[in-house]
Amino acid sequence: MIKARGYATRHSFSRLKLFEFEREEAGTYDVEIKVLFCGVCHSDIHQAKNEWSNTVYPCMPGHEVVGTVTKVGPGVTRHAVGDMVGVGCMIDSCRECAPCKAGDQNYCESNNSWLATYNGPMVPAKKAPDGNNIYGRDNTLGGYSDVLVVNEDFVLKIPAGLAPEVAAPILCAGVTTYSPMKHWKVKDGDKVGIVGFGGLGHLGAKIAKAMGAEVTVFTTTKEKLDEAKRLGVAGVLEKDKEALKALKSSFDFILSTIPEKHDINPFVALLKRDCTLAVVGALEPLAPVNNQEVAFHRKSVAGSLIGNLADTQEILDFCAQHGIGPDIQLIPIQDINDAYDKVEAGDVRFRYVIDMASLATEAA
Ligand code: NDP
Ligand code: ZN
Repeated sequence: MIKARGYATRHSFSRLKLFEFEREEAGTYDVEIKVLFCGVCHSDIHQAKNEWSNTVYPCMPGHEVVGTVTKVGPGVTRHAVGDMVGVGCMIDSCRECAPCKAGDQNYCESNNSWLATYNGPMVPAKKAPDGNNIYGRDNTLGGYSDVLVVNEDFVLKIPAGLAPEVAAPILCAGVTTYSPMKHWKVKDGDKVGIVGFGGLGHLGAKIAKAMGAEVTVFTTTKEKLDEAKRLGVAGVLEKDKEALKALKSSFDFILSTIPEKHDINPFVALLKRDCTLAVVGALEPLAPVNNQEVAFHRKSVAGSLIGNLADTQEILDFCAQHGIGPDIQLIPIQDINDAYDKVEAGDVRFRYVIDMASLATEAA
């Protein structure tokens, strides 16, 4: 076993703190990774606080992980000691169902679903007699830690052109926004709307722009209009009814990244005929959609979950080629609880990334 340290929480209402544990040694096809950086996704907060009602404790979040390979199992062919690598939201899937065979591991349909980097399989939790959530398979502890051991197929290569700390958020925020834009065929000259200008939203806007789209971000935060200008995209306040009216039926694709239940009808109205609005932010029931608007113009309202392994590698390489990446703020792990408060208050510009060297400085 490998001695490991990280930050975890034991209850939905408590804060993250130092947690010492053991990881399995790398098996035949596994890679051992020394974690250097880990992005802080809003999903980490939803999960730590049991906002999806499926959290198993202790909960150690972290699925935007970059580090160096320190050991490989004897069967490993894709990675070598010293490589800079990344791990996103998944660390395994069944590999046998139709989606897995098609390369869409993120839509694995096996009973246990795909295995998440933290909080185990993505299936509804059972309740233990004491009321806590349990799984039929082991819980997993994520990237807010010094070491990770992952099957080589679920380990991505970080291109040389990307700083490792900048690459980290691409492993979730990047692929979650890229994958639907690829699926719904966003192309050069398209008009793309991004709703919610946060971690996912700002990276999605940069990616869409690099794909050649004309991008508009919709925000609730007036001060972010200047940030939009800085990124070279248009910015519109969500409550500005006149501006929304002027944009009616003008978008080829819209992506909503708002992290909670919200009314998407004002944005459906902005789509052109035959076009799609995909929701990636709120993974919960939404306010009803006015199907008159949808049916009269053959529009689609859709959703999308992270992205598959091939798309994850593709967007890492794409960001390196185009010289783009998230705007990050590096933090020591000791500031993680404060960072959660700031993400919830909308105070981050635009993604916190934990510098894992800070963990070594903490006494047990
Ligand atoms: P952030 O908190 O960084 O950004 C969300 C942005 O949405 C905020 O910056 C804010 O932007 C806007 N916003 C927040 N609350 C509201 C509200 N009540 N009404 C309207 N707008 C609001 O979060 P992330 O970008 O990290 O994550 C966004 C969501 O995506 C999370 O719920 C996360 O769990 C989910 N997610 C989903 C994935 C998937 O596979 N489908 C994968 C990864 C994350 P502004 O100030 O511009 O209004
Ligand atoms: Zn995420």
